[in-house]
Amino acid sequence: MPQRHLSLVDSDSTQAWGHHVAAHLRAGDLIVLTGELGAGKTTFTRGLGEGLGVRGAVTSPTFVIARRHPGRDGGLDLLHVDAYRLSGPSEIDDLDLDLEGAVTVVEWGAGRVEHLADSHLDITLRQAGHDGREVIVTGHGPRWDQGAIDNLVRPGSEADSP
Ligand code: ADP
Ligand code: MG
Repeated sequence: MPQRHLSLVDSDSTQAWGHHVAAHLRAGDLIVLTGELGAGKTTFTRGLGEGLGVRGAVTSPTFVIARRHPGRDGGLDLLHVDAYRLSGPSEIDDLDLDLEGAVTVVEWGAGRVEHLADSHLDITLRQAGHDGREVIVTGHGPRWDQGAIDNLVRPGSEADSP
């Protein structure tokens, strides 16, 4: 599977990386975010929403499972999902999410949402030492070949040692 490793030294880097990733996304893309509480999943999504230019503040969707941020001027919507409370794939189906015209980002999505699209991007964040985050980006399906994954990595953010 096509994969890249990167390092994000602080919160601003996580948000800036999300902003960068947004420029390489298309309608129907599905991103599955994995990482413990506090890993930076929502921070990444906030940067992504900023990059897409969507309406509404991107926050932890604590009381809602899914929030759709409309795009501006015909741009892509951001569908931000927190799958933490969902037990598995069938509960996600009950939500009847509409991935068309949107980029869909699912926190805690691993094992729950992959069936919603024929390709998805897996982003795993974990704490690196006392600060910073290490990230592994893995492409699944025809949408995410190595070239598409390479585009997501900003120059200078490559991890020294994977
Ligand atoms: P999650 O959604 O995974 O629970 P958040 O995005 O809410 O995590 O982030 C939790 C905290 O971690 C926030 O205070 C955020 O600013 C901080 N954070 C995010 N990315 C980094 C990073 N690369 N290095 C250090 N702190 C970070
Ligand atoms: Mg979160």
